Amino acid sequence: MIGCSCNICTSDDSKNTRRRCSLYVVADGQHLIFDTPPDFRDQVLTFGVERIDAVFLTHPHADHIFGFDDVRRFSDLQQSHIPVYGSPRTIKQMRKKFDYVDRKSHSFGGVPRVSFIDQTKSVSVGDVRVTPLPVSHGADTVYGFRVDADGARLGYIPDCNGIPESTLKLLKNMDVMILDGLRPKRHLTHFSIDESVEMLGRIGARQSFITHLTHDSEHHALQARLDDTITVPWDGLKVHL
Ligand SMILES: [Zn+2]
Ligand SMILES: [Zn+2]
Ligand SMILES: [Zn+2]
Repeated sequence: MIGCSCNICTSDDSKNTRRRCSLYVVADGQHLIFDTPPDFRDQVLTFGVERIDAVFLTHPHADHIFGFDDVRRFSDLQQSHIPVYGSPRTIKQMRKKFDYVDRKSHSFGGVPRVSFIDQTKSVSVGDVRVTPLPVSHGADTVYGFRVDADGARLGYIPDCNGIPESTLKLLKNMDVMILDGLRPKRHLTHFSIDESVEMLGRIGARQSFITHLTHDSEHHALQARLDDTITVPWDGLKVHL
């Protein structure tokens, strides 16, 4: 937290240093990024992301999209347009906030070369299937994603304070579930940690993770009070399926 000197913000333990939420999935020869937060460039440099075949955006809040410009390095490296998927509302906001991306006069470099695509149902990237998961985030409907690849199933919902039954039906037999659990205290647009734990119990994935944590949670103290099925993740954590 900017301007905070609490014991978590000043901790020497790297597990207490949290960048913004993002997920990188490598499966079946495809490389997918979920959200491009403001520290996206630092994240891809720190954790060695060298290729992106598609970008998926959960919603157009600043903490999930404002690192988007650095996708341009990947479109340069790969010499191709990168598809960017999001709900029609998210894509409309992206075209507005990154209006220079679509301008023809810049088509020879210096900007991300991408194709913005409205996503309202499952899409395939190679053999990887990505399904949008509508959820509540305060008054808004935003999206998580289910990823099916090579017989494995992963769910990612970083911002959410309610999951409708129709979406819960899409979260059966999950190998990995990653869910918003902002802080101990309740919040108007995010699950609290207890609400997240309860929802993760209902979903019943083989491995569960709580994300979007604030400086209210010390890594080891939080892990100690959760059971074995739920992991408190840390920046750079890799999970092999
Ligand atoms: Zn703090
Ligand atoms: Zn949000
Ligand atoms: Zn957020």
